[in-house]
Amino acid sequence: TTERPGAADSETLATLHRVFGYEAFRGEQEAVIEHVVAGGDAVVLMPTGGGKSLCYQIPALVRPGTGVVVSPLIALMQDQVDALRALGVRAGFINSTQDFDERRMVEAEFLSGELDLLYLAPERLRVEATLDLLSRGKISVFAIDEAHCVSQWGHDFRPDYLTLSLLGERWSDVPRIALTATATHATHQEITQRLNLPAARHFVASFDRPNIQYRIVPKADPRKQLLAFLREEHAGDAGIVYCLSRNSVERTAEFLTANGIEAVPYHAGLDAGTRATHQARFLREEGLVVVATIAFGMGIDKPDVRFVAHLDLPKSIEGYYQETGRAGRDGLPSTAWMAYGLNDVIQQRKLIQSGEGDEAFRRRASAHLDAMLALCETARCRRGQLLAYFGQDPSAAGCGNCDTCLTPPETWDGTVAAQKVLSTVVRLQRERGQKFGAVQIIDILLGKRTAKVIQFDHDQLSVFGIGDELTEGEWRGVIRQLLAQGLLAVEGEYGTLVLTGESGSVLRREREVPLRKEPKKPAATRSGSGS
Ligand code: ADP
Ligand code: ZN
Repeated sequence: TTERPGAADSETLATLHRVFGYEAFRGEQEAVIEHVVAGGDAVVLMPTGGGKSLCYQIPALVRPGTGVVVSPLIALMQDQVDALRALGVRAGFINSTQDFDERRMVEAEFLSGELDLLYLAPERLRVEATLDLLSRGKISVFAIDEAHCVSQWGHDFRPDYLTLSLLGERWSDVPRIALTATATHATHQEITQRLNLPAARHFVASFDRPNIQYRIVPKADPRKQLLAFLREEHAGDAGIVYCLSRNSVERTAEFLTANGIEAVPYHAGLDAGTRATHQARFLREEGLVVVATIAFGMGIDKPDVRFVAHLDLPKSIEGYYQETGRAGRDGLPSTAWMAYGLNDVIQQRKLIQSGEGDEAFRRRASAHLDAMLALCETARCRRGQLLAYFGQDPSAAGCGNCDTCLTPPETWDGTVAAQKVLSTVVRLQRERGQKFGAVQIIDILLGKRTAKVIQFDHDQLSVFGIGDELTEGEWRGVIRQLLAQGLLAVEGEYGTLVLTGESGSVLRREREVPLRKEPKKPAATRSGSGS
């Protein structure tokens, strides 16, 4: 492939200029495109906004035949095809939203060689009729988009992706390119194996998004905190606010609107028409805020999203990275802001325990959550932690553009505080055979004679009132960090606190427990651009 770079070069570059109107390739694009144009297989790991589409669109245009793009994003195919057609690219799609006549027309175009690009939903390839159709035309390249969907480990597993390995068997002379923005080592390996791409060349772009500032603040009154963040730093900016539940999406959108910030809700419970309208407004307008569940955003290409805010904890770092990655695709300064608190930890742990799935599934979900919690609780550079998670080397000095770099958190020796919490849990369990949640434990530590404390005689416990050196908020921070560190666990539907295998070492004073100090005020605001 390196013999005559000049010839391929000029044609791909000319296509970049003529069709897409761009000056130059970005990052790995050129290397990927050259390799695929020359007939090689490729696995491309590039962050959201990195420019994956051109990596298969240009080979499809340069090589003879039609480029077949497998994508799970059915809802976006029409938009993608329209955008390509506007550039003069002959593109079409086949999916379940079409009627018979529309599909027949696209099929005819494909067979007569009139298509540069054909988008297909993965389930189409289970159908022999589709494979038969593809065999009767000429294919230039297969692109498998969102390739992480083949990974059972990941968060977007789609069984139909498993059948895609047959493409290499039936079309052994057609190059295949698999692309994803999710790139842990495990996913990467699974993509290579399950899509049967042993000879592929691997292109791994940096996952760093230097223009995104990462910030994670302790959750107190999340909607008010969000409002202050938006007013101070992102007035008039477009952005996405993620919430866990539909209800919270609705209420947050109403709250923002009532406070003068234009916001619309988006979740799977809204009818398709409303969803489409809100999405279209977000893409078209300059300063709209979409408050959404994670149903929103996959494949959305809006370059000037200035912030992504999380009011609830994502389930995994992969999810967090993908969601925050929707900010700042244009390379301009943007913020990934999250409010995170004790209830997030308890709720997520409960969800895993009470949720569906077997033991192995639960273990994986727990591992994903643990990594996410470690990111939230770290006293080191957030970006460094993210990059390390994706197997990339962070700068040792820190990034200078995350909250922990900008305002290094203080740590304190929380050993005694941890012992107090754990002994209270032990006392209740051993002396009374009782289990309680965080609220009751904190009331006992603070020596509060609440109705519930009186009802259970908890003011008679020897630990009653031993913790008045910290505030309620500080105790919540201690418990949250103990949960994150695995020194305490959550059980059952009421989220009661129980010991773990590790708790004993703290109670026996065999180890120290360094904790992050809870900032009294939200982290310092950044200087420079934004609002
Ligand atoms: P991804 O699929 O990796 O998330 P896209 O392919 O959608 O990213 O590209 C992200 C944005 O960057 C798009 O708006 C695209 O048009 C733009 N883009 C891609 N490559 C280039 C380039 N070489 N020069 C300028 N803009 C580009
Ligand atoms: Zn940093």
